[in-house]
Amino acid sequence: MEHYICKLCGTEITDAEGIVSYSNFIDDPRDPLYEYSGSSFHKVCFQTWDKKTVFEKKFQEFIEEARNVHEKITGQKIDATELLKLLFKNKKK
Ligand SMILES: [Zn+2]
Repeated sequence: MEHYICKLCGTEITDAEGIVSYSNFIDDPRDPLYEYSGSSFHKVCFQTWDKKTVFEKKFQEFIEEARNVHEKITGQKIDATELLKLLFKNKKK
């Protein structure tokens, strides 16, 4: 397993089961949640994070937006999971 540092508490995540990871989905550096996109968290830290709801909502909006764009371009609907694979296929695991 790669070396992951929890963005919220700053300590290493050693338990593969206890990790929450988000792809880089916020492009705007002025966004207050920008630094958290593309980060990993302890599941426990993430669950109790005060910005969790906003962060998750923003991620959902990003997915919806990307799905709309994909549908417009290809004329086909796409599953959120498939979409994420497409979007981040260049990112190494
Ligand atoms: Zn943590």
